Amino acid sequence: MYNFVFDPQNLSLEDEFAFNCYKGISCFNRCCYDVKLVLPPYDFLRLRMALNLEVKDFIQKYGELYLGEVTQLPVISININPHTFACPFLKEEEGCLVYKDRPSSCRLYPLARFITKNEEGKNQEVFKIIRETHCKGHYEKRVIKIKDYLEEQGLRPYLYYNDLWGEVILKRQKFSNTPLTGEILDLIFLMAYDLPTFKEKLKEDYGEDFFSKDLETSEEELLEKSLIYIRDKLLTEENLFL
Ligand code: SF4
Ligand code: SF4
Repeated sequence: MYNFVFDPQNLSLEDEFAFNCYKGISCFNRCCYDVKLVLPPYDFLRLRMALNLEVKDFIQKYGELYLGEVTQLPVISININPHTFACPFLKEEEGCLVYKDRPSSCRLYPLARFITKNEEGKNQEVFKIIRETHCKGHYEKRVIKIKDYLEEQGLRPYLYYNDLWGEVILKRQKFSNTPLTGEILDLIFLMAYDLPTFKEKLKEDYGEDFFSKDLETSEEELLEKSLIYIRDKLLTEENLFL
């Protein structure tokens, strides 16, 4: 028995859909129970900074760190409350306590986003609507273009970083039969999820691609550079087949 279904149509940025979600709707917060929140690096960074927690403290308090089964890349997910099945950031009457920095999957819902290639071989975004019986937002009268919904939900930076991380995953999948060495794995974790420790390591050795000015940049900027480095310099045939 499926508890959600996708609408059959593929939608583009210019397409419209009917949806609204607001405090006071009869299903308010229902979507914050029994959720599996996996945090890509930018989602993790935003939440960790909003909560002002160190990496290890965040993981200890709210999450779980493990290696992806196929890719062997690090994954951080949020543990739901084992008694109520609620997301740990949900306060029943108030709603989401981390709303300004909520994860991308919470922002995107009820949409699912896929990247496909168009006829010219360029990436294009395709969307599908997810329907779950508990979500009453679909019966609201408001009609909104997908591109405006993404803006409204503050998704653009999230999607940019998630796509970069997606490219890292794709690159890794090409060589998924070759295990990563402990050294490369540690570095990927630091660069993707633990930039404060990565900055400390940089002070000891900048290597060829990082410079003292990288210590001064924001963690968001350093994350962008780090994900590109993992994709282009770390996950290369030379590195993986040493
Ligand atoms: S992070 Fe916020 S919006 Fe997302 S599931 Fe948790 S409480 Fe709900
Ligand atoms: S309308 Fe849907 S997304 Fe909004 S609170 Fe209700 S269940 Fe959650």
